[in-house]
Amino acid sequence: MKAHDGMYIDGAWRPATSGDVIEVVNPADEQVIGQVPAGTAADVDTAVRAARAAFPGWAATPPAERAARLAALRDVLVARKDEIAETVTAELGSPLKFSEAVQTGAPIGVAGSYAELAATYAFEERVGNSTVYLEPLGVVGAITPWNYPLHQIVAKVAAALAAGCTVVLKPAEDTPLVAQLFAEAAHEAGVPAGVFNLVTGLGPVAGQALAEHPDVDLVSFTGSTAVGRQIAAVAGAAIKKVALELGGKSANVILPSADLAKAVNVGVANVMSNSGQTCSAWTRMLVHRDQYDEAVELAATAAAKYGERIGPVVSAKQQARVLGYIEKGVAEGARLVAGGTEAPREQGWYVSPTVFADVTPEMTIAQEEIFGPVLSILRYDDEEDALRIANGTVYGLAGAVWAGEEAEAVAFARRMDTGQVDINGGRFNVRAPFGGYKQSGVGRELGTHGLAEYLQTKSLQF
Ligand code: NAD
Repeated sequence: MKAHDGMYIDGAWRPATSGDVIEVVNPADEQVIGQVPAGTAADVDTAVRAARAAFPGWAATPPAERAARLAALRDVLVARKDEIAETVTAELGSPLKFSEAVQTGAPIGVAGSYAELAATYAFEERVGNSTVYLEPLGVVGAITPWNYPLHQIVAKVAAALAAGCTVVLKPAEDTPLVAQLFAEAAHEAGVPAGVFNLVTGLGPVAGQALAEHPDVDLVSFTGSTAVGRQIAAVAGAAIKKVALELGGKSANVILPSADLAKAVNVGVANVMSNSGQTCSAWTRMLVHRDQYDEAVELAATAAAKYGERIGPVVSAKQQARVLGYIEKGVAEGARLVAGGTEAPREQGWYVSPTVFADVTPEMTIAQEEIFGPVLSILRYDDEEDALRIANGTVYGLAGAVWAGEEAEAVAFARRMDTGQVDINGGRFNVRAPFGGYKQSGVGRELGTHGLAEYLQTKSLQF
């Protein structure tokens, strides 16, 4: 795979300060496919200086021109979509069809939505005798994970650029190649020098240096709750803004009036998709006790069918982590009805699609984010019980409700402590705000709410 041996800073690929490199490995066959430089605090500093120098010019660029650059960026992503899908498949291991449809399709949609929003958003509003200006926050430090590597980059960078901010991106060390491709795309699209900068590197080195940098105004982070907590603490000390997209343990609530087979089948597909490495995955399925046995049987069958189509998890470390959770589920008394093992392949870090029945709300597998293809099915007695279970974790990122009538599902969804709920299946909306209640995060991504994260307000009274 093509890889740059420098950092994209101030409009050009520049040599890294250290000779250290990060090897990129294909999780499907464990082969090294490339290497990228491991950035240091010095690289981060150079990038932040470039972003700071570019900020006044970009902030003053008319929104229509910023929109034109974002539209051009979207067009480059479209023109290079095959290359993007192949790159994500090579470094993440997701099946090529999924990389094409979701890993490439979603970021193209998001880039397009911010091209439109930059042109139409009201950056100025009149409130009584005041004019309120929505001004860009400044230099953004974006730190992204590996599970939807390009989508998470675009969700932050396109929103920040639309708002008039400049950005330094530190992508996940497991998936830096698609981040380099994104930097090429931004360059090709005519994004001015210094407006977007890329520093590849390790989280505790380059990531931490970026979060701590005194000249970064906002840190936008997606990843684990543990690292999110550290970043919030560092930012808190400096009174720096943060946006955090963290973990989830989302509930898929199947009410008795729902089409059970459809709800279970879509629910299983949702969890297994991307090998379970989705923060918003519906990892807890809640079923009424009268329908429980039927649901378990349907889920086990659906998971077994999924077996051949599933990709690997991202690394040996993640595989060990997921298998550890499965062992814990068994040890705590849950009943395995599908999977539960390393998938039988000669190479690659696979986990077979796994379904647990007889899961109770206090079990570890019903409380902690596993980030692998593991579904827990829980039983509830009545609606109040279902709501208690659904709301009974520290997380609140997403969820689903299924019912015969939409209004019944909506009434239940309104009582859930969570940021996004799909009604009877739902459909991904690039403009709908995405983000968490409780420990699932702070702030929102996508659409106008995502744009607002990168703005601050000034009011003038007349
Ligand atoms: P992580 O939180 O360690 O990494 C996410 C990003 O943060 C990466 O770019 C990483 O380099 C960076 N980072 C790590 N330590 C840092 C530090 N001290 N300061 C600044 N940046 C730092 O996540 P991971 O190791 O990739 O995955 C671990 C778990 O996190 C997963 O099993 C899953 O539970 C969760 N996760 C959640 C999401 C999500 O979208 N919410 C995405 C990926 C992982």
